[in-house]
Amino acid sequence: IASVALLSACGSSTRGSSASKSTSPSLKKGDLIGISMPTKADQRWNVDGANLVKDLKKAGFKTKIEYANNSPSQQSNDINNLVSAGAKAIIVAAVDGTAVGPAVEQAKSQGDIVIAYDRLIMNTKAVDYYVTFDLERTGILEANTIINKLDLKGNGGKTKPLNIALFAGSDDDNNAPYFFKGAWDLLKPYFESGQLVDPSGLVTKDTTDADWKKISVHAWDQNQAQKQMDAFMTKLSQKPLAAVLSPYDAISLGVMKSIKNARPDMSPSTPFSASNPDNKSAWPVITGQDGMDIGITNIKFGAQAQTVFKNVALLANKTTSILTQIADDKKPKSTDAPMSNGKKDVPTWLLKSDELVKNPTGDQKGLHYEVEVGFITEKQ
Ligand code: BGC
Repeated sequence: IASVALLSACGSSTRGSSASKSTSPSLKKGDLIGISMPTKADQRWNVDGANLVKDLKKAGFKTKIEYANNSPSQQSNDINNLVSAGAKAIIVAAVDGTAVGPAVEQAKSQGDIVIAYDRLIMNTKAVDYYVTFDLERTGILEANTIINKLDLKGNGGKTKPLNIALFAGSDDDNNAPYFFKGAWDLLKPYFESGQLVDPSGLVTKDTTDADWKKISVHAWDQNQAQKQMDAFMTKLSQKPLAAVLSPYDAISLGVMKSIKNARPDMSPSTPFSASNPDNKSAWPVITGQDGMDIGITNIKFGAQAQTVFKNVALLANKTTSILTQIADDKKPKSTDAPMSNGKKDVPTWLLKSDELVKNPTGDQKGLHYEVEVGFITEKQ
């Protein structure tokens, strides 16, 4: 936070002198586009970054890309540096959607076009466009897998209580509450009917969409997810576990490692079956998102039930097309409803996501994983 404050403080004194620079966005082919990605540690942002560079170059722009190591202050510095390097537009996948505000305001004051990429930048007017996937759909696809595999509609919706653990995404990511809402709106009725219970007590029938931070996993971090799942497993004790709502493949991996440590009796070779819900050794239905190599491998292995695959190539295409239209003096128009970031209704494009369950084949290659004692873990 200190360095973000410093950045904006420096900005107002040193950059104030360049008042002659236009503040109305203008862009032409050949201009430099700055790309600020959150981290190289997650597979998808490597793919997103590479796609953007490829598409923008093909469209005739120059590019410079930075990865912020999941640090909000580093991302603010990255954006500042991209603008100093001459970027006329910046594409930002925020680490922390709110903390990045002063840095994009600084870019905007220099006449830059600001595109929020996948994650909305919050509480500032300094965002021109937002491109993402249909956010609630991720949670809907995950919840439907759980409802179907647990056969919650079976027996007239009167199945016996089944144990479930629920996770939401990072507390600083505006996408996370939408993912949770999509899932919770479908799962809550089964908490109300008593068919689903969370033995940790974190989620009850009185939980609302707004309570998502109680189960959020900061920075979408696998190790943090594992710790939170450890606490859940202690409460679960030796009882059966039917399902885990996980909003992201790396969180699913942390969850699996925790289960493996706490309950070596549970094995993916005996998946949860609605016809034998009391089987303590059954492996729970675990969801995911992103179609990471590891998620897909875990689906093939039977350890993960599904993943929500986002074709991020389309997101890079859309972003490039917005910038190309501006460079051609056209006004980009979306037919989707704008999304509010608290200060502005930001013109928004919502793309579709799909679900990978059977014989999944993803094209998001990049990182490498190997099998370790029957489980898939990230290669060091
Ligand atoms: C993205 C997801 C991704 C998650 C973790 C979210 O903002 O929309 O696709 O799984 O971040 O990187």
